[in-house]
Amino acid sequence: MISETTVTIKSKFSNKFSSGYPLLFKDAILNLQDLQEEGTLLKVIDDKGRFIGKGYYGEQNKGYGWILTQKEHEAIDQDFFDRKIQDALDFRSSFFNDPNTTAFRVFNGEGDGIGGFTIDYFDGYYVINWYSEGIYTFKENVLESLDRLVEYKAIYQKKRFDQKGQYMDEDDFVTGERGEFPIIVKENGVNFSVYLNDGAMVGVFLDQREVRKAIRDQYSNGKTVLNTFSYTGAFSVFAALGGSSKTTSVDLAKRSLSKTIEQFSVNGIDYEAHDIRVMDVFNYFKYVKRNNLKFDMVILDPPSFARSKKHRFSVAKDYKDLLKEAIAITEDNGTIVASTNYAGFDMKKFKQFIVQAFKEMNGSYKLLNEFSLPKDFKTIKAFPEGDYLKVAIIKKIKG
Ligand code: SAH
Repeated sequence: MISETTVTIKSKFSNKFSSGYPLLFKDAILNLQDLQEEGTLLKVIDDKGRFIGKGYYGEQNKGYGWILTQKEHEAIDQDFFDRKIQDALDFRSSFFNDPNTTAFRVFNGEGDGIGGFTIDYFDGYYVINWYSEGIYTFKENVLESLDRLVEYKAIYQKKRFDQKGQYMDEDDFVTGERGEFPIIVKENGVNFSVYLNDGAMVGVFLDQREVRKAIRDQYSNGKTVLNTFSYTGAFSVFAALGGSSKTTSVDLAKRSLSKTIEQFSVNGIDYEAHDIRVMDVFNYFKYVKRNNLKFDMVILDPPSFARSKKHRFSVAKDYKDLLKEAIAITEDNGTIVASTNYAGFDMKKFKQFIVQAFKEMNGSYKLLNEFSLPKDFKTIKAFPEGDYLKVAIIKKIKG
C-alpha cells in the first residue's frame, strides 16, 4: 500500500483549489509538517474537512506538490497514468503525422493533468524531465505507460530536482537502444542537431517553434539580424533561411560558437558568411554603439536570470533597459523580437515594459505580432502561470 497523507488548505484558498488550481503552494497549506516523504499521495481537504482533491507531495520551486484529480473516487494508479498520457498523445496526433516537424512536446505537466514532469519527442526518442523527487517516485508508472502506448527508439531523462531545481548530471539513458548523438530532428523542414545525453539543454528550445517560423517566413528577408542570448543560434538559422543578408549571434557561453556553427552546417548554410560572437551581450551593445552600427532586426531572448562578470540581469527588473538597448541599435522601421520565458509576469505587464521603454527613448512603435506557447505546450486556464512564454514582434517607427 502506498501511504496517503491528508493536507488541509487554509480557508481563504479553498475556492482557488476547488476551481481547479493544481499547485499546492506553501502559503496555502495548514499542516506542512505532515509532509514527510516525497511521492506520498495526498488527500487535500478544506479546513471544514470537505474533499478538494488528490495529489502527491513533491517540492519544486514554490510548490509542495500537485493536485491530480478533483474526483474523490478516482485512483492515482497505473490506469490513471495510462489515461493521461494517452490523452496527451492523442492531442498531439497532428504533430506525429507531420514529417516536417519531428521534435515537439508530448506531455506538458499540469497542462496534461499531471504536474511535475514533461515529455518531449525527438524523432523516435522520448525525453522525460522530472521536476521533483516526488514525481520521480512515479517513474515506473510513466515508463510503463510509454511502453504500452508508444513505440520508441529509446527513453532519456533529465532530473531537475536537487536543492536548486537544477539539472543533476548523470547518464541520462533510461531504456531502449542508446542513440548516437547528435541526431538530426526537423522543425518546419529545418534541421536541428540534438544531443540527448549532454546536459539539461539538448540544443533547441521547442517552445519557440512558431516564432522561428514567423522570423523565417515573414520578417527576415534581406534584413541584417542581431540575435542576442543566441545559445545554439536557432533564431539565426531560421533568419538565414528566410533570406537574411547577415546574422550576428551573441552568447556568453563558449560552447555556443561550435554549436551555432553546427546548426548552420546541418542546414547547408555557410557559417562563415555570418557573425558568431562569444561575448557578454551588454559589452556587445557598447561595441555596437561605439561603432554606430544598426540592425534591421534585433532579437532579445534572455534567460530569466543571468550573471556574468560585470552584469547581473533579471528579466523582472531589467527587461525595460534591455529593450532600450535594442531600440537604440535598431534601424527606423526595423523589427524587435522581444521574448521572455519568465513566469513571474504576464503579457499585459510585458507590454507595459515595451510602452515604457519606447517612451523613455522618445520613440514610437507598432506591435506587429505576439506569441505565447504553441499548442503542444498545453496549458490550462486554472493555472495561468503555466502559460509562461511571451513574445512580441515590434516595428520600431522611431526612437
Ligand atoms: N535564444 C536562445 C535561448 C537562450 S538561452 C534560443 O532561442 O535558442 C539563454 C542563453 O543566454 C544561454 O545560452 C546563455 O549562455 C546566454 N547568456 C546568459 N547571459 C548572457 C550574457 N550576459 N551575454 C550573452 N549571453 C548570455
